Amino acid sequence: MLSIQDGPVTVFESDLYRTTSTVVVTDSHVVVADPCWLPREVEEIRAYVERVRRDRQVVLLFTHSDYDHIIGWGAFPGAAVVASGSFARSSVAARERSLDQIRDFDDQYYLKRNYKIAYPDVDYPMDGDGTALPLGGARLVCYQAPGHNADGMMTVVEPYGVLILGDYLSDAEFPFIDHDSAAYEETLFQFDAIAHRHDLKLFVPGHGSPSADLAHMKARRDADLRYIRELRRLVAAEDEAGLARLIDDAPFPRNQRKYHEENANRIRRELADAAR
Ligand SMILES: [Zn+2]
Repeated sequence: MLSIQDGPVTVFESDLYRTTSTVVVTDSHVVVADPCWLPREVEEIRAYVERVRRDRQVVLLFTHSDYDHIIGWGAFPGAAVVASGSFARSSVAARERSLDQIRDFDDQYYLKRNYKIAYPDVDYPMDGDGTALPLGGARLVCYQAPGHNADGMMTVVEPYGVLILGDYLSDAEFPFIDHDSAAYEETLFQFDAIAHRHDLKLFVPGHGSPSADLAHMKARRDADLRYIRELRRLVAAEDEAGLARLIDDAPFPRNQRKYHEENANRIRRELADAAR
């Protein structure tokens, strides 16, 4: 698995879907975001955390409840868990769905794990925007980020200026709108507010390349907003050729076309609901 390190911050990149896991070593804590997702990769992250932690407390941060992001939870027994309030309040049925996706995935590839698959118990449910969780001299500042799914959260790790985005602002995928397109746009605007409020030095999307460059991230935000607006326009106009062309530049089109089609179906439902 790839990893890049800058002082206390290490970003691991899974071989699967370029999914990122971020580790920040503070004076008193080790913050681990979304450790994932092949067994050897989770083990590599776990071993790294064990190596650097000394007497620090381990804090797991989950950006959202999609199964690929929570798959590593069981490898960190004893860690405190931080996630959004809506993540913490998710229904039993929703939890079972995520766990079933993990079991399906592991069976599909004959994967064995040396830890139990379970849904994360949240010790620190974070509601509202700008809500802070102090961790010794550091702190996590959390912002709700619905749109991709309903329980997403963006988190700034201060004083390091690391923004852990969850599944937004990726250079590996266009917006996957599994929840609500208007909420997705709001979250993209929220990104500006966060960038304005904090001195950010590193941006880590859930999939794809981290960046230290705010202008670069704003370009990704513009591209994502453009995609959603065009998607809405083309769906309303029933322009199938235009819809197909909209993902001409998608990095992994053979896989991503189906997400684009699901996005279009969601927009159709949203437009139908709005017309009712
Ligand atoms: Zn994801």
